[in-house]
Amino acid sequence: MTTGILSLQGNFLDHTRSLELIKKDYILIKQKNDLKSIDSLILPGGESTSMIKIQSNNELFKKLKILINDGIPTIGTCAGLILLAKDVVDGETSLGLLDCVVERNAYGRQNESFEGLVNFLDNTQMYCFIRAPKILKTGKKVKNIAFIDEEVVGVQQNNIAAFTFHPELTNDKNYLSWLKYFIEEGKNVRSF
Ligand code: GLN
Repeated sequence: MTTGILSLQGNFLDHTRSLELIKKDYILIKQKNDLKSIDSLILPGGESTSMIKIQSNNELFKKLKILINDGIPTIGTCAGLILLAKDVVDGETSLGLLDCVVERNAYGRQNESFEGLVNFLDNTQMYCFIRAPKILKTGKKVKNIAFIDEEVVGVQQNNIAAFTFHPELTNDKNYLSWLKYFIEEGKNVRSF
């Protein structure tokens, strides 16, 4: 089983560490031909506008969209969530598969980046929010899976899970066991 990590820009290398910790194979995705033999997908944080620009001359996003629609387990963190969202405030819709409205840089500039206590599937852990987006609204098929107080910071829609924060920078036991489960379930993965 191989996880593809979108590696155009941003903190893709931190996700390789998470996968190493759970002993999973991965490849770095830079162009559409890299997508041939992957079973799950991670879209990392970084700068969504740059990622969109970098891929604009090739077919990578078109192919990604087909794979995700086909049911491949897909995780987006921060900019990755923005790429997945159907509606982006202060930004551009790109893959447009996750039924939610997100606002880019919703907490402010880099100075307003913070660590916060997140409740993720009934476990509480401190995670980093780096020029994070906010999830303003979600569609009916979207389940809320992570919160800061009442605020939703993680969602799942069938095979797509996305977070406004960076669990890959913490790699706590809870996140790593969820990650293992999520990518191992393959196309059987369900919202819970
Ligand atoms: N602010 C970035 C964007 O709009 C996201 C930041 C991140 O991924 N940590 O794409």
